[in-house]
Amino acid sequence: MDFRFTEEQDAFRQKVRGFLAKELPSDWLTGGAPEDETDEWWKFTQRFLKRIGEQGWISATWPKEYGGQERPTWEDAILGEELAYWRAPAQDYWFRWKMISALLLNFGNDEQKRRHLPGIASGQVYWCQGFSEPGAGSDLGGCQVKAQDKGDYFLVNGQKIWTTGAHRAHWCFAPLLSDPDAPKRSRMLSMFLVDMKSPGVTVRRLESLEGVAHLCETFFDDVKVPKENLVGERGRGWLAAMALVNIERSGLGFASMPQKILEQLVEYVKETKVDGVSLSQNPLIRRKLAEMAIEIQVCRLLAYRVAWVQATNQDVTSVGAIIKLFGSELMQRVVATGLEILGLYAQLVPGSKGAKLAGNITRDYMWNLSLTIAGGTSEIQRIIIATQGLGLPRM
Ligand SMILES: Cc1cc2nc3c(=O)[nH]c(=O)nc-3n(C[C@H](O)[C@H](O)[C@H](O)COP(=O)(O)OP(=O)(O)OC[C@H]3O[C@@H](n4cnc5c(N)ncnc54)[C@H](O)[C@@H]3O)c2cc1C
Repeated sequence: MDFRFTEEQDAFRQKVRGFLAKELPSDWLTGGAPEDETDEWWKFTQRFLKRIGEQGWISATWPKEYGGQERPTWEDAILGEELAYWRAPAQDYWFRWKMISALLLNFGNDEQKRRHLPGIASGQVYWCQGFSEPGAGSDLGGCQVKAQDKGDYFLVNGQKIWTTGAHRAHWCFAPLLSDPDAPKRSRMLSMFLVDMKSPGVTVRRLESLEGVAHLCETFFDDVKVPKENLVGERGRGWLAAMALVNIERSGLGFASMPQKILEQLVEYVKETKVDGVSLSQNPLIRRKLAEMAIEIQVCRLLAYRVAWVQATNQDVTSVGAIIKLFGSELMQRVVATGLEILGLYAQLVPGSKGAKLAGNITRDYMWNLSLTIAGGTSEIQRIIIATQGLGLPRM
């Protein structure tokens, strides 16, 4: 079997690498600078996201009539892989753009597409994903934020949580409870676009374990959402949400992020001596790194399979769950091994004097704990693989 990329795909990858080498500071490319959510970082990030937009990469796969170039989805996958490998800033915005553009292109009407797609393509209008609520995460069908039909608008009341980036976002896409009396639970929700500047929207930032306040609680108090902001058919919000979580779960970043960490660890053990002996001579460390290399290769092939399934317009649900599960758990194993190799230095976070590998592995360890929760927990992925992948009956 030949898994090589075509010449055209390789050329695109080189173009992306050239772009990143020019746009990211050199210490970023070697260390992978952490996201710190300071205003300075955000200014840099905004400029970077705008530059990605200027390359035409956000909209590359879209239909020409909406400003796209109808490029093959493989280019999107390669771009995602490179962004993740180089730890480009604010990749979660990139993901949400993919989700909201898929929502608009597949479910939106012409007016919604013309109004919102150009801002997304430019990399300058930011979106947050308002799915989870205090009582609804794994089970999105339980969303309770109400959208009451008031004639020419919906009156929205309730609370969302874990709305990453809501404090920076201009817009939110969210399934809301529009039809609580519908005969089927799956028909109770509708998908809405909510302007985050609407009166009655309040965002409260939450600090995550790694000390970054980018997770948010979003409160809606008598927020008027115009009727034209309902996306797709009323009562079909759950269906749209399920289509979008498939996009959220699949990505080549799952393989390329650990690859970069492995390469950094290999360099580190080669240049570090303990009691006069190079760490690279330690049999336990060599074995762990070799195992890591195998797992990363497995992950890469799983990720390419997802990209192929997407490129051939097949159902991505089960393979998306596989890569999400394997990739997120792999990241946790990789950084845990990294911590063991760093030994006592693993206690030093970024910015600490004497921190090894810029303290990023320690920070990654804390950040990665959330990977098996965000975008659907590992338990939920296993259920999807069992039911949709293996055809086992639901419990
Ligand atoms: C870093 C981070 C970023 C996030 N960003 C966003 C965002 O931008 N927008 C957004 O909407 N949400 C976001 N989320 C929320 C995320 O999608 C939810 O946390 C996730 O879906 C789990 O939901 P929950 O937290 O409500 O846990 P619950 O659904 O309450 O689950 C609790 C536990 O029960 C288990 N469980 C639940 N149901 C079952 C079942 N049927 N069978 C077996 N076990 C089960 C779960 O696996 C879990 O271990 C983010 C979360 C994190 C950690």
